[in-house]
Amino acid sequence: MVGTDTYYSGGCFCGAVRYEINGELTYAGNCHCRDCQHAIGAAYVTWIGAKPGDFKVTKGNITHCETSPGIQRGFCGRCGTSLTFRGEGWDELGITAASLDDPGAITPESNVFLDHRQPWAPYDETARNYPRFP
Ligand SMILES: [Zn+2]
Ligand SMILES: [Zn+2]
Repeated sequence: MVGTDTYYSGGCFCGAVRYEINGELTYAGNCHCRDCQHAIGAAYVTWIGAKPGDFKVTKGNITHCETSPGIQRGFCGRCGTSLTFRGEGWDELGITAASLDDPGAITPESNVFLDHRQPWAPYDETARNYPRFP
């Protein structure tokens, strides 16, 4: 159960970018990959997934950076909060759970890229866990 709601709202730290999700989430999980560590500046990132059509920016604009070929990471161009992740051709959009107005509304149910996990980053060994991408 990633979350029971069908409406979520969130935004960046400074408030310049606001978004809404209208629909059920497709996943919620922690990514420990080295790219996320670098891009976000933390040991891992909790991502939630949504169908791209269910995600709407309601204020401001998301700035994108192609951090690897075909991978677009979205953030606030003013304060730098990481907001989105999308791979070319993917039918879902990743959104940083911590940018939700109520991050406690979701429950991460998996860990991916544990091969890249930092030894000082604890994780739930009872979750669905994968050494790389499942
Ligand atoms: Zn901002
Ligand atoms: Zn990652």
